[in-house]
Amino acid sequence: MTTPTYEILALRYATVQQRVQGECLLFPDDHAAPMPIDFFVFAIRGNGRTIMVDTGFDKESADRRGRSLIRSPELILGDAGIDATKVEDVILTHMHWDHAGGMKFFPKAKFHLQDAEMEYCTGRCMCEGILRRPFDAEHVVDAIRALYTDRVKFHAGSGNEIAPGITLHLIGGHSKGIQAVRVPTKRGWVMLAGDTSHYWANIRGRNPFPIVVNVEQMLAGYHTLESLADGPDHIIPGHDPMILKKFPLLNGNPEIVRLDQPPIA
Ligand SMILES: [Zn+2]
Ligand SMILES: [Zn+2]
Repeated sequence: MTTPTYEILALRYATVQQRVQGECLLFPDDHAAPMPIDFFVFAIRGNGRTIMVDTGFDKESADRRGRSLIRSPELILGDAGIDATKVEDVILTHMHWDHAGGMKFFPKAKFHLQDAEMEYCTGRCMCEGILRRPFDAEHVVDAIRALYTDRVKFHAGSGNEIAPGITLHLIGGHSKGIQAVRVPTKRGWVMLAGDTSHYWANIRGRNPFPIVVNVEQMLAGYHTLESLADGPDHIIPGHDPMILKKFPLLNGNPEIVRLDQPPIA
């Protein structure tokens, strides 16, 4: 049987324009140079199903963190013809607030999470304020609630196939149990890197994002991403504003692009 191919959408739901290089690169050329950040959820469609990669954040956590939403994740999914309340599989790349803050938008979903990430965000490392900062206790509690209602599917390590051809890969570095997602498309193997590389500048310049638990693992992760993707443009970073400029729009919607199609820029 041949491997099916899938459509992949990147949907931008929030942005922060006032951000500088020093917050995005461990070794900035110019600390104060502007470096905006975008927030995406990713959807994989095909072979009769829709699989989400991350949930985004809701208005409450946006307000708590002083961020503003462009459009709430479940609404922008609706714009792409995806009913969040019917989605059955959501991959949580990791438990940071901007990725796990919208679990409530997916009431029917099973959440795919690495053992190492759940251990990390509920374990002794969270005694350290600086490590705890990218997490939100409410989201961790949401994950525990999902666990106690049979809605968490744990994974350990790399290569687990959650749908024909779609595999999860434990990377670590940015968060202890962060995972990336490998997807077969018509243009080849695409790696949804999530926060294992926030920007193309992180992986291409070997210049890690400063929110990091283990730099060595983060750098090793760049090699893993490269070995699993069919080329540099097949590695999709988690937060890079270039994503919206590089790929074709879905039905002319300026916030949604097709990652399964070749780059246009
Ligand atoms: Zn993160
Ligand atoms: Zn993030």
